[in-house]
Amino acid sequence: MNQTVYVVPNPPTPNRIIQFNPVNCTGCNSCVEVCPTDVMMPNPEQYQPPIVVYPEECWYCGGCVEECPETEALTLLHPASQRISVNWKHRDTGEVFRLGMKNPPPARQMTVSGKRSASRK
Ligand code: SF4
Ligand code: SF4
Repeated sequence: MNQTVYVVPNPPTPNRIIQFNPVNCTGCNSCVEVCPTDVMMPNPEQYQPPIVVYPEECWYCGGCVEECPETEALTLLHPASQRISVNWKHRDTGEVFRLGMKNPPPARQMTVSGKRSASRK
């Protein structure tokens, strides 16, 4: 009897546990085979990076990275590296800034008297 089985990604937070580099990945599926929780499945297209199907099952054990025979073919994205979000607001203008943004303004500096002074001219 033929049955159709659908596999769909389950996107919890964080939903990107691994970043594949399709240039370096050969699609050998060693990472798929070593994963203790079957997070990934082989890509139906030959020589393409595996597909992450169950990201919430990842233990961040690093086995996939260790097993990969290629260089920089996959990177583990630890949740902590995805959740860090530091924002601050300019007191006078209300402008919002974010850690990691391009060319963030310099932080205000404390003067000897304890008063704040903007270091930006
Ligand atoms: S880190 Fe471990 S659990 Fe997560 S995908 Fe890689 S091998 Fe699987
Ligand atoms: S082990 Fe490395 S080269 Fe092989 S499929 Fe996984 S990421 Fe690609």
